[in-house]
Amino acid sequence: MKGGRARLTFLGTGTSQGVPIIGCKCEVCRSADERDKRFRASVFVEYDGLNILVDAGPDFRMQMLRHGISHLDAILLTHNHKDHTGGLDDVRSLNYIDRRAAEIYCERNVLEDLIREYPYVFKFPKYPGAPEWRLHVIDERPFVLRKDSSAGELEWVHDIGYHYRLPDGRLVPTARCLDDRIEIAESPGASSGGSTASLREAPPLASRSEAPVPPLNVPRVAVATPSRLAPGDSGVTVIPIRGLHDKLPVLGFRFGDIAYITDMSSIPDSEFPKLEGLKHLTLNTVSYNKHHSHFSLGETLRLAGRIRPEHTWLTHLSHSFPVHERFCENLARMCAEQGIHSTVRPAYDGLTIE
Ligand SMILES: [Zn+2]
Ligand SMILES: [Zn+2]
Repeated sequence: MKGGRARLTFLGTGTSQGVPIIGCKCEVCRSADERDKRFRASVFVEYDGLNILVDAGPDFRMQMLRHGISHLDAILLTHNHKDHTGGLDDVRSLNYIDRRAAEIYCERNVLEDLIREYPYVFKFPKYPGAPEWRLHVIDERPFVLRKDSSAGELEWVHDIGYHYRLPDGRLVPTARCLDDRIEIAESPGASSGGSTASLREAPPLASRSEAPVPPLNVPRVAVATPSRLAPGDSGVTVIPIRGLHDKLPVLGFRFGDIAYITDMSSIPDSEFPKLEGLKHLTLNTVSYNKHHSHFSLGETLRLAGRIRPEHTWLTHLSHSFPVHERFCENLARMCAEQGIHSTVRPAYDGLTIE
């Protein structure tokens, strides 16, 4: 499998409301065991020197602080539900430290939702200090992430906001970029020259009040970086895994021999070859019972038996499962009864696997 060793830390392993749930007095929500306290689902992956975050839900800020994370090379989004994207405003702190936009990788439908749900990020003129994002459209084809070691490109102007500097020295507000277009990801094996689609038309410069500036070659809404990784090239290949979350298409991601899947209720047979030879597999489950948009525990165990990773970790957990210790015992017994050879355990916030 392409790419070096990956190390994955669970920043959040809870269902959409987190655990404990506000106002709930059940045994799990009152548990003193730190492993029963779950932020919304997210993982931090260190992969060949790149810092990759998968999902930025409402607990994003606390997750970054708890783990002392101050730099992200890429944020990958599985889908647009608020427990996975509600923290994206808080990349502002990273914008300021890194002097660069957050690099966000998502599917086209997610990108369109984000533009609708975070209009102020794309507005002109822009409120000073609003988040700086660069959106990259991906699909279920593998794509490449590369480290950008250059100095950041953003210049902060007090009370006015982020700017790019033109070659002639002039500063231009970031929101003046005319790149309201999406370049579709070019995947390994695809012919060169990814297609370009217009999402919405930016007003022509002449219609704006300031003195005209040349179009900026700094895309604000999306650039495709996915491409073939040449021998000796630096970068890592990430393999998306297509699944359905009820009827909503969502993505999981494979980094080397670790795969992270959340918020799925089915995986098409055609995706299973991407899950061969795994050391670690993460799967979502919210309850013992059948659920319309998540795997039940029984479905998760059957997948662990079919995919046969060395270790299976459960995430997106709710308070309907027992406290950690007892849940581990239950899982060990169920796996023995069903002849599942993968060790299946609940993930918990702060757990690192590699
Ligand atoms: Zn979720
Ligand atoms: Zn969801």
